[in-house]
Amino acid sequence: MSPGDPGFVPPFCPHPDCRFHTCAVGWRYRRHGHFARRCEPRVIPRFRCSHCRHTFSSQTFSPTYWLRRPELLEPLFFRSLACSGFRQIAREFAVAPTTVLGQVARLGRHCLLFQHQHRPRTPLAEPLVVDGFESFEFSQYHPIHLHLAVGARSHFFYAFTDSELRRKGRMTARQQRRRAALERRFGRPDPRAIERDVAELLRLVLPEPHYLRLFTDEHPAYPRALRRLHGWSFEHRRTRSTVPRTPRNPLFPVNLLDLLIRHNGAHHKRETIAFAKRRQSALERLAVLQVWRNFVKRFSERHGGPTPAMRLGLTSRPLTVTEVLRARRFPSRVVLPARLARYYWRDVPTRRIPNARRLRLKRAA
Ligand SMILES: [Zn+2]
Repeated sequence: MSPGDPGFVPPFCPHPDCRFHTCAVGWRYRRHGHFARRCEPRVIPRFRCSHCRHTFSSQTFSPTYWLRRPELLEPLFFRSLACSGFRQIAREFAVAPTTVLGQVARLGRHCLLFQHQHRPRTPLAEPLVVDGFESFEFSQYHPIHLHLAVGARSHFFYAFTDSELRRKGRMTARQQRRRAALERRFGRPDPRAIERDVAELLRLVLPEPHYLRLFTDEHPAYPRALRRLHGWSFEHRRTRSTVPRTPRNPLFPVNLLDLLIRHNGAHHKRETIAFAKRRQSALERLAVLQVWRNFVKRFSERHGGPTPAMRLGLTSRPLTVTEVLRARRFPSRVVLPARLARYYWRDVPTRRIPNARRLRLKRAA
């Protein structure tokens, strides 16, 4: 039952310090009046926990909790995937760009928790395809890699991590001077970032040492990443980047995901002005895409077919976005790996924006 229904029954105490927060066995609560609001549903029932005495409402259990424009959350799930910039979206809904930013960030956090709660718990039964998706944050002087891990057969998008890179490639003398000046002022990314963050990517997919069949391109950082994983064993198959990107290419599952990301996110288009100002928000949008790709989107737009989650037996049918957004996910009820917790709490720094806002605990949703 969704929080908007009149017969809503609170599933647990929403107060993180209450002993009935994570397990509701034996929990008691009472009705505690209601409040009226300007948007539908207008009458929201309130409750009081008989144990910790905190009050809450049915809205406390909705992902739209505390939003002034709750009706935008679901449309924004689609818009954030539909290749529009935040300003365009804001114009369409006649709201401030910060409203869109805030709600898309919330969607990203919701999806991080959703994905983690619905991840496969059985041992990995397929090879993993890994690749680095190139983009940049703030300006072209700050390239980033988003490392993606995809199932070779299921196309399930298991995990992602991020790396900051140094700008490379052809540059004019002026650009080189500019890079040097920026590096003096803001520091240089860790040259071992890729191997560190790819090792962490694999640990997100498989927390324990494992035998893994892995397909990647010939990037020299990958063998170094694997050497960081003590106790693991690998069959590592590398494919030259010049091999045609057809379905027969072993990297096809990740090439396809690359395309989906590039196609759906305006912030990753080359030569765009809609690029991500902060890597943090690129990660949040990627979390939305991950849930959509795994649980909502049928395998092919034209031919239908199951979702990657159905291929892994996690769900029996595609979920709708309404279903994905039905219940608020509480970070206090989900134990996230450290890396995902950093993504959740907006702890990914952008060098050029020194005091970027981290998430205020109270509003965490
Ligand atoms: Zn309580």
